[in-house]
Amino acid sequence: MSHRVHNFNPGPAALPLPVLEQVQRELIDFQGTGMSILEASHRGKAYEAVHFQAIADLKALVGAGEEWKVLFMGGGASAQFALAPMNLIPQGGFAQYVTTGSWSEAALKEAKKLGDARELYTSGPDHKHVPKSGQVAVDPKAAYVHYTSNNTIYGTEYDGTPEFGHTGNGPGHVPLIADMSSDILSRPIELDRHAVIYAGAQKNLGPSGVAVVWIHQSALERCRGDVPQIWSYRKFAEKDSLLNTPPCFPIYIVGLVARYLLEAGGLTWAKKRNDEKARILYNAIDDSAGFYRGHAEPGSRSQMNVTFRLPTPELEDLFAKQSTAAGLIGLKGHRSVGGMRASIYNAVPLESVQALVGFMQQFRGEHG
Ligand SMILES: *Cc1c(COP(=O)(O)O)cnc(C)c1O
Repeated sequence: MSHRVHNFNPGPAALPLPVLEQVQRELIDFQGTGMSILEASHRGKAYEAVHFQAIADLKALVGAGEEWKVLFMGGGASAQFALAPMNLIPQGGFAQYVTTGSWSEAALKEAKKLGDARELYTSGPDHKHVPKSGQVAVDPKAAYVHYTSNNTIYGTEYDGTPEFGHTGNGPGHVPLIADMSSDILSRPIELDRHAVIYAGAQKNLGPSGVAVVWIHQSALERCRGDVPQIWSYRKFAEKDSLLNTPPCFPIYIVGLVARYLLEAGGLTWAKKRNDEKARILYNAIDDSAGFYRGHAEPGSRSQMNVTFRLPTPELEDLFAKQSTAAGLIGLKGHRSVGGMRASIYNAVPLESVQALVGFMQQFRGEHG
């Protein structure tokens, strides 16, 4: 057995070990084809089967019906920051953004370059919380409202689908677009309250190199016709993301992760596991007599990215150094927030979180 660390990297991040082992087993000779899936034609039978199975499994996991399409697009989640406004702000229309962290701020900034995009609410500059239900009301005339479900850098997350007023997919409703890059498939979602959900793969879905987009028929119908085809949601939906050569290898691995999750018990299973991991980690913070201090307000805490501070920057540096030496990798917080961040995505096992909690208790014993 190879050496494996406790991986708390924010992204690219931990992948399920059984998936990595399957990739390794299949790498040289994919299912008797005598070649790797890396070497196969994207128009061939072997790859097509992988591609369409991944789409089917990604639909099954979130309970998506016929009226939903799953797209695989390049450029990561950051490309979606541009593609959403490009496709979905009509001539003379405007979109509204709820900014609760660096990524939603980046999404708004990109959208402003492409159309009339307005900030509807901000939790800045500290981003310690997300708005409460009913606190934010979208303008019924908006082309869409965009939010970020989990704020990877600040460690805040909505407790389910936010209530912004007139959102929905029917006539007279404002489509809801979510960047779920860092909590996608970590818990059940109310898919049908959304019009578009997108996620860069490298946190909860697989490796970097692809973004997955779930898009509702009503949003496809609203898409602008003047978008270059490589950036067009509608064109990608028509061609099942095989308009040109897709990122075949990342899609193959995303498909394996989806299948692994389905077989393990789907999103209910994932949530149960993630709740337990987050619970023991936040308890370790809350039971530390103030030695560890969480960044997020308790009602807005992320189940995926747990951000916390120590009494001094010197102790934070020491914590980062000693935890790394102890085989706990990736705990240094983002430079814009400081402190520590433990990313405990789907593929991070409970044992890794237990190891971290043990380390935190020991460190506090020595320095508290
Ligand atoms: C990581 C992240 C992004 C950026 O993803 P890229 O695929 O690197 O473009 C965007 N949004 C959120 C919420 C993220 O966590």
